Amino acid sequence: MLDRLRDIKHLALDLDGTLYLGGRLFPFTLEFLKRVKAMGIGRTFFTNNSSVATSGYVEKLRRLGIETNIEELYSSTTATLDYLRASRPELRRLFVLGTPALRQEFAENGFALHEATGERDADGGEPDGVVVGFDTTLDYKRLCRAAWWISRGKPFLATHPDAVCPTDEPTLLPDCGAICKLLAHATGVEPEAVLGKPSPAMLYGAAARVGVAARDIAVVGDRLYTDVALAQAAGAVSVLVLSGETTRERAGAAERPADFVLENVMELAELLAAARGGSR
Ligand SMILES: [Mg+2]
Repeated sequence: MLDRLRDIKHLALDLDGTLYLGGRLFPFTLEFLKRVKAMGIGRTFFTNNSSVATSGYVEKLRRLGIETNIEELYSSTTATLDYLRASRPELRRLFVLGTPALRQEFAENGFALHEATGERDADGGEPDGVVVGFDTTLDYKRLCRAAWWISRGKPFLATHPDAVCPTDEPTLLPDCGAICKLLAHATGVEPEAVLGKPSPAMLYGAAARVGVAARDIAVVGDRLYTDVALAQAAGAVSVLVLSGETTRERAGAAERPADFVLENVMELAELLAAARGGSR
């Protein structure tokens, strides 16, 4: 089994539950990252949360002491931008139901934003498509416009499928998947693409960026239905860590178990070192 780790060239790392919990870095995270780097293994940080700009995640990781840059971040927003460029290049003007940060990221990547809450823009244009993200600033008028354009046959895309966003607070945070369910129920139309984990598009996009084949990447995360499912869908190695939401019992009862079930990422660093040592 250790064989599967010997040729790993790159890690796709989940954040919450894997490298930190809420705002607190695990005590072993920096040492883990140092050891992985020393072995010459690359890394990409993965997140499904499209309410924060990808650049906002760079700042968050830096605040936690992880030196990184935008090239090492692959969010569900990045996956959506890559999908649009590769598969839907004709969609240039978008109605984005998302936070100001998400809308700004689309604008910075060369897309025109349809912001009119009436039918047409000041210049008479209609959107080519609708993108729905985790809109923590959800506004009823904008929700109605998204529903209208979807009902008019404009392509409907979702950044990621999560029903709720995890929180330590005594509340429940309906996420992108729940907002899309509302729109699908109102319009009778399902999204044509749902990016983010567990869509294999998420891994293929990041793999293409670093020039590593999916089979030489290990996806490391704390959730079976996003991180492990992504690895399995894309043909990568799956590493489930028990430092987040999954218990050992649930990991063992999984219909498609992960390739590796480990206490935390430090155990992965040790196995990677052992696998490499064994190959010499
Ligand atoms: Mg996680």
